Amino acid sequence: MTASAEKFTRQTLLDVQPLTPSLFTLRTTRDPGFRFRAGQFARLGVTKPCGSTVWRAYSMVSSPYDDFLEFFSIVVPGGEFTSELSRLGEGDALLVERQSFGFLTLDRFVDGRDLWLLSTGTGIAPFLSILQDFEVWERFERIILVYSVREARELAYQALISGLAARDYLAEYAHKLQFIATVTREEHPGALSGRITQLIENGELEQAAGVALTAEHSRVMLCGNPQMIDDTRHLLKQRGMHLSLSRRPGHVAVENYW
Ligand SMILES: Cc1cc2nc3c(=O)[nH]c(=O)nc-3n(C[C@H](O)[C@H](O)[C@H](O)COP(=O)(O)OP(=O)(O)OC[C@H]3O[C@@H](n4cnc5c(N)ncnc54)[C@H](O)[C@@H]3O)c2cc1C
Repeated sequence: MTASAEKFTRQTLLDVQPLTPSLFTLRTTRDPGFRFRAGQFARLGVTKPCGSTVWRAYSMVSSPYDDFLEFFSIVVPGGEFTSELSRLGEGDALLVERQSFGFLTLDRFVDGRDLWLLSTGTGIAPFLSILQDFEVWERFERIILVYSVREARELAYQALISGLAARDYLAEYAHKLQFIATVTREEHPGALSGRITQLIENGELEQAAGVALTAEHSRVMLCGNPQMIDDTRHLLKQRGMHLSLSRRPGHVAVENYW
């Protein structure tokens, strides 16, 4: 098969940054023909020493306009893919499927005033892409980014998040963003304490955001831990909010990571 007929391209790692022993970020070159919408994912491939290739889905952190691709990864102990990925360094090859996938994109919603982006762990990745794209800032009056981690040291991309306001193309919109971190296993200054579901149930999340989570005004994206997504969907359903489908626009869009 010729290279152009293959389903994937071979990209080069430009940078790998460990955050904790089990979290790291990686940046690769980008094939000029690779297109995606903010919030989508790609399938990445690594070749094992035995010669076979393992593929896994990864959300893009970078914006559709960047000339590189950025990803944020967990290291699963003994995980088939991440054991290999975490061994790679600058200059190594990473395979990227040509097609991008996923429905965690703004076109899931036809209306809404406030956008809630609720994430656990690496599930913040697609929201960082969405926030680095222009559309979200024009479409919504308020954007509430919620990032839940177990320990404070797992809070990634803090400089990127706080630096959004300084980007000249966002300057007039920056007041729209509210960032709420929540840390579940320790107290951390400036962060809430507890799981996203607890904070919705006890009203703390809305209090911190200064706005109510309602079917009328809120549109909600959920990404990361499947249990968080199931439990949050259940709570949102009690408030009359349902999944947004192509045939029936709604209030909620989700991406389960496993
Ligand atoms: C649409 C989609 C997008 C994804 N995007 C990302 C991403 O941007 N970053 C990322 O790190 N992973 C992401 N994942 C998960 C990723 O595809 C792999 O599961 C992960 O790389 C682990 O692969 P593995 O072979 O090492 O372990 P696997 O055998 O795939 O997973 C083993 C177990 O590890 C746990 N696990 C897997 N992924 C995670 C995770 N991200 N955080 C916490 N626990 C996890 C689960 O309990 C899972 O059952 C995504 C998954 C999907 C479906």
